[in-house]
Amino acid sequence: TMAHSKALLVLENFIAGKFVPCSSYIDSYNPSTGDVYCRVPDSGKEEVEAAVKAAKAAFPVWSSKSPLERSQILNKLADLIEHDLEAFAQAESKDQGKTITFARTVDIPRAVYNFRFFASSILHHTTECTEMATVGCVHYTSRAPVGVAGLISPWNLPLYLLTWKIAPAIACGNTVVAKPSEMTSVTAWMMCKLLEKAGVPHGVVNVVFGTGAKAGEALVCHPDVPLISFTGSTLTAQHITEKSAPHCKRLSLELGGKNPAIIFDDADLTQCIPTTLRSSFANQGEICLCTSRIFVQRGIYSEFLKRFVAEAKKWKVGNPSDPTVDVGALISKEHLEKVRSYVKKAQAEGARVLCGEGVDSLALPTGNQKGYFMLPTVIAEVKDESCCMQEEIFGPVTCVVAFDTEEEVIERANSVKYGLAATVWSSNVGRVHRVARRLQSGLVWTNCWLIRDLNLPFGGMKASGIGREGGKDSYEFFTEVKTITIKH
Ligand code: NAD
Repeated sequence: TMAHSKALLVLENFIAGKFVPCSSYIDSYNPSTGDVYCRVPDSGKEEVEAAVKAAKAAFPVWSSKSPLERSQILNKLADLIEHDLEAFAQAESKDQGKTITFARTVDIPRAVYNFRFFASSILHHTTECTEMATVGCVHYTSRAPVGVAGLISPWNLPLYLLTWKIAPAIACGNTVVAKPSEMTSVTAWMMCKLLEKAGVPHGVVNVVFGTGAKAGEALVCHPDVPLISFTGSTLTAQHITEKSAPHCKRLSLELGGKNPAIIFDDADLTQCIPTTLRSSFANQGEICLCTSRIFVQRGIYSEFLKRFVAEAKKWKVGNPSDPTVDVGALISKEHLEKVRSYVKKAQAEGARVLCGEGVDSLALPTGNQKGYFMLPTVIAEVKDESCCMQEEIFGPVTCVVAFDTEEEVIERANSVKYGLAATVWSSNVGRVHRVARRLQSGLVWTNCWLIRDLNLPFGGMKASGIGREGGKDSYEFFTEVKTITIKH
């Protein structure tokens, strides 16, 4: 059994409908044990070249299928993933460190829904038409798929975010070359095994595994990939923008955040506290939409802090496969060290760490002693200019500070380089609308968090991104529009 438990899972690239081995591999870790358990192809130019060639060859047939034909295939794929939901959830939890509960209830159901949603939405788009009767002209727009789409995704919500790109890309008639994060490649590989059965023709979806520097960059620099949809860090996005500039590529960039929660003294704390705990610590705080700056109005500041910290201490950290665990492992040793270093910096600056890292002790099960775990951590009395209030930490760490007026809190909330998401808590309807309008943020949730209608735009302002994705926005991004004028 020892030999069996050490047997490594070996992934292969998926090109032109076939699994193909690679000449070199990268180790992939199980974040909850610290063991290498999987080997991921270390693809480069050659593999990307083969995948782009396959995608180009598949384009003429796939792009001329009717939306209904493509829709049926997407629905079939959704059914197949859903049928294997438990296996996908187990794999995602093991590969990423997230809790099995989160993978079962959020990641994999959403991956399924991404295919169902775009299978449906592709049937309902209409184009524009205008008349110029005085000169005898009719104008209309026509939309067509762009070609080979390059899709690059991060490690925090692996299959969820990859399918959020693959589904609209192929629904619109493009073919794709996708590159998941080298740290979380397993569920994408599992999905490839279902493509043929779903009826996805060979070459329509190609997946090339490997690092950003090699495989990702080869995709971004490939002249036959006119469009790149990227989700990841702002730093990588700047690099991708530079590399794609000589080709004038179309880019969609979904990046980091430093998301505020603004809690007024008339907020319903029985709703606000549990939701703000989730928005701070869900998925170990590794969601781009997670709250990391909590502004609480002075009158309720101490009460909020007391209740919030008491509840944060109840979050159970441990083996992600245990269904009673709330916080799993962080993605890597390096990332854990980075997140911890922010807590140290805050302490050095005189902030107070109220619970978690460095304050409470973390007891882990025997099998998880070498995993990358950390307790939910709440920091108070942090200065707005501190790196903990300015930079994306991307871990289970949240800062709580007091404010006095509406005007003041809007200015402070906006005083970071990011602009992805915000939450506003108040029972004053007028105030909720006023504040939401003035926040520099692509998404504002009032008295709730993370409720999404996929029809509506998703994306960030400022350093949080360029472009929006969602029903109509994804359709527009993944198609090229043409205006045609007819004179009669
Ligand atoms: P990352 O930028 O390091 O990597 C993202 C992807 O880009 C990976 O597949 C990586 O291999 C690839 N990549 C890296 N360098 C590349 C290069 N030079 N050329 C091409 N590809 C390259 O980000 P990450 O650490 O995997 O993910 C965390 C980040 O993602 C956080 O900043 C988070 O906020 C952000 N994120 C944003 C959203 C959103 O929708 N706005 C969603 C989830 C995560």
